[in-house]
Amino acid sequence: MEAIINEKLSSQDLINLEDKHGAHNYHPLPVVLAKGEGVYVWDVEGKKYYDFLSSYSAVNQGHCHPKIVGALKEQAETLTLTSRAFYNNVLGPYEKYLTEYFGFDKVLPMNTGAEAVETALKICRKWAYEKQGIPENEAKIIVCDGNFHGRTTTIISFSNDEGARKNFGPYTPGFIKIPYNDLGALKKAVAEENVAGFLVEPIQGEAGVFVPDDNFVAEAAKICKDAGVLFIADEIQTGIARTGGLLRVCGDCSCENKCEQQSTYTKPDMLVLGKAISGGVFPVSAVLADNHIMEVIKPGQHGSTFGGNPLGSKVAVAALEVIYDEKLIQNARKLGNIFRERMEKFIQTNDLIKLVRGKGLLNAIVINDSPESSTAWDICVALKDNGLLAKPTHGNIIRFAPPLVMTEEQLHECCDIIEKTIKNFSK
Ligand SMILES: *Cc1c(COP(=O)(O)O)cnc(C)c1O
Repeated sequence: MEAIINEKLSSQDLINLEDKHGAHNYHPLPVVLAKGEGVYVWDVEGKKYYDFLSSYSAVNQGHCHPKIVGALKEQAETLTLTSRAFYNNVLGPYEKYLTEYFGFDKVLPMNTGAEAVETALKICRKWAYEKQGIPENEAKIIVCDGNFHGRTTTIISFSNDEGARKNFGPYTPGFIKIPYNDLGALKKAVAEENVAGFLVEPIQGEAGVFVPDDNFVAEAAKICKDAGVLFIADEIQTGIARTGGLLRVCGDCSCENKCEQQSTYTKPDMLVLGKAISGGVFPVSAVLADNHIMEVIKPGQHGSTFGGNPLGSKVAVAALEVIYDEKLIQNARKLGNIFRERMEKFIQTNDLIKLVRGKGLLNAIVINDSPESSTAWDICVALKDNGLLAKPTHGNIIRFAPPLVMTEEQLHECCDIIEKTIKNFSK
């Protein structure tokens, strides 16, 4: 059998190959990427684009960041995987670095975001039975309408995206769904019997960048604390500088440091991280918690062959160093303000866009058309033709999330492209 993996094929050839040989579980924009560097990606024919998706915020540090790729190369030639059957000389130092970085006693390392969410759900349930005396198999976890936490059977059980759910049942029981950004509903839900935790995104990314009220995170955490329920923050998309703080649970403080000292910071009982924790270079995810929670997990009770591998661990340390090396928190905050200001102004002159919303460099515009219309998709195709890649989410919403290493000048150029594209589109 001859591999064609090194052959030079056209974009159309490559699209045809994916169509014929790959499962159709995605509907990509018709662009085939062959190279990335910083805020740019190039297609197979050599056309250059600004990346305004950043691999769903996994590439916050920019494509192929030399420091992160350097860490990968060096460790790849030394030791890649030991499994957790043995200790390795990278995991301990990584765990120390990570827990100090985010201010928790312990980490449980995994690989993908969904696995980390699953891990948090399992820890939460076990904690409920062993520490709270909830009767076995009765624990309930509160989640929000419009959530996105990944694709496993349990996680899609509490999704309300019909596409993600339908015909994947029977569903995992034990979840209570409440409206997002509804403290009253949360108060009622935690008062139900046998509630163990509240799993929430501090901003709903996939749902279309829904930013809750300013006091939502802090108040929700307080309601959970008073009720003896774990507050579990899924910061897989919002975390690691994306929203203009180290984490979104840092709130809107203008801290340029680790947020633990800041008064607006809400410490979750469990913090779930993925995506940008490795700068998009290798799948790394993590659940962080303090000892009184993490100690419910004992040898043999949870794990993953690749979780905590030396390669991913080295990559993650480099990726997290880049956040502070390059002041990405401050840059995300500054550029985010510029982006929303420009879009706000533009909206005054154009009725195709209803509104812009977001925090830091996680933003979205809502198109003035029904979610069933193809307008947002068609705008994204036009943006692609003009050299900027973005993807619609939930029909009429376009998310704009460039790498955080963007300069102010580049951002203005991107705003020019977006405005020009939409202006021409309305004609
Ligand atoms: C992307 C994402 C996940 C799932 O991560 P995967 O690595 O795709 O499994 C979970 N939660 C949130 C908030 C996400 O954005």
